[in-house]
Amino acid sequence: MAPQLDAYFKSVDDLSSNFVERLSQAVAIPSISAEDERRPDVVKMGHFLKKQLEDLGAHMEARELGQQPHKEHLTLPPAIIGRYPAKKDESKRTVLVYGHYDVQPANLSDGWNTEPFKLTVDEQGRMYGRGSTDDKGPVLGWVNAIEAHQKAGVEFPVNLLMCFEGMEEYGSEGLDDFIIQECKPGKFFEDADVCCISDNYWLGTKKPCLTYGLRGCSYYSIEISGPGQDLHSGVYGGTAHEPMTDLVRVMASLVDEEGNILIPGIKELVAPVTEEEKEVYKNIDFTMDNLYESLGSKTGLFESKERTLMGRWRFPSLSLHGVEGAFSAPGAKTVIPAKVTGKFSIRTVPNMEPADVDELVFKYVNDVFAKLKTKNKLNVSLQHAGKWWVASPNHPNFTAAAKAVERVWGVKPDLTREGGSIPVTLTFEQATGKNVLLLPMGSSTDAAHSINEKLDKRNYIEGTKLLGSYLHYIAEEPMDQ
Ligand SMILES: [Zn+2]
Repeated sequence: MAPQLDAYFKSVDDLSSNFVERLSQAVAIPSISAEDERRPDVVKMGHFLKKQLEDLGAHMEARELGQQPHKEHLTLPPAIIGRYPAKKDESKRTVLVYGHYDVQPANLSDGWNTEPFKLTVDEQGRMYGRGSTDDKGPVLGWVNAIEAHQKAGVEFPVNLLMCFEGMEEYGSEGLDDFIIQECKPGKFFEDADVCCISDNYWLGTKKPCLTYGLRGCSYYSIEISGPGQDLHSGVYGGTAHEPMTDLVRVMASLVDEEGNILIPGIKELVAPVTEEEKEVYKNIDFTMDNLYESLGSKTGLFESKERTLMGRWRFPSLSLHGVEGAFSAPGAKTVIPAKVTGKFSIRTVPNMEPADVDELVFKYVNDVFAKLKTKNKLNVSLQHAGKWWVASPNHPNFTAAAKAVERVWGVKPDLTREGGSIPVTLTFEQATGKNVLLLPMGSSTDAAHSINEKLDKRNYIEGTKLLGSYLHYIAEEPMDQ
């Protein structure tokens, strides 16, 4: 039976100006995790969130995560965790939700049209401000959903467990171990039945989506060195092996101009595309013009949207990022750099195990370098690796969310994957052993991490309805999987 949601929806509409005010207060706290001097603001934001939820009767705790690795003089902002209702209702399911209350840096001088830490709503209902869509709007969506239930006198359908962190934009320092600990028997998150993360975006601007996959990322360095110091080409050009010459040849051998990874064995690790999967791609609301608009050019690799989306989501890609130690300034300096470090990464997909990828990369780079017969030295290494994640979109967690989307937005959501990574997703899946759903609130034009970040008021208010509706549908979705 479809849940009764009309009273809840009306309550959200009635409270909408309070909800915008709540977001405005949150945006006004510049909780930038990457800037040392803003750390008190990050902590202040965590306590603001805690207080908002306590005022609604939730049981909340601010858990310390220790000192910041590599910046030991800084204390990490607390994980704000909580439970609503404060006392568990054993007759109901338990949903664990995650979000983050820190934001990316922002300055008016970066090119913002409005003060980044003052929520500014234009006549089209676009709410500009740092953190509006990433991720304060979605986090407050959960708070709003609780309040709207109370005001409407509608019983809250589940036990809600909350995990809000303050270091997401700086690598989620300290969080992985904390989550793993708290998911153990007898700990705070032990009884989660499903997980939900609202911290990504629709593929476009019109149609909501549910996200069931993310690519991983393995990031490498190739260091090539020879001479004891930088040399002058007028004196030493033509007399010595040059590190830059070697590096360019090695880097050029990694990927071709059509985006094919040239490292033997990589292709063989990729799960084959199924017929069923091809069908899914056909119906996704995305056009080549969407790509061209976001690229700012027509330099796409493929002609079709299906192949383009597969290129972004379900095939690996290799990107060359830069060269440390190279002469990159303007002008015509005749230097021969003594040591250069090339950087590249591979976005990984099922079934590429990071350790297998490393082995193939190291072997190939060493082989290519050996063929150069240079007297320079090579050192290839992994900087960091995060694994890909793919969930089953047929799990009740997803079917419940799809019903909620249809109820609120009147359309079936697209099932999407993303080309990027949200590492905490995999942590929650592994630590709880439960299904994780990515349920976005904002749209593709929100400019998270960029200047003029915004969240459309419609996405915020309907998004609050969506989060609440999802809880009702997940409360009653048959769950025999
Ligand atoms: Zn985010």
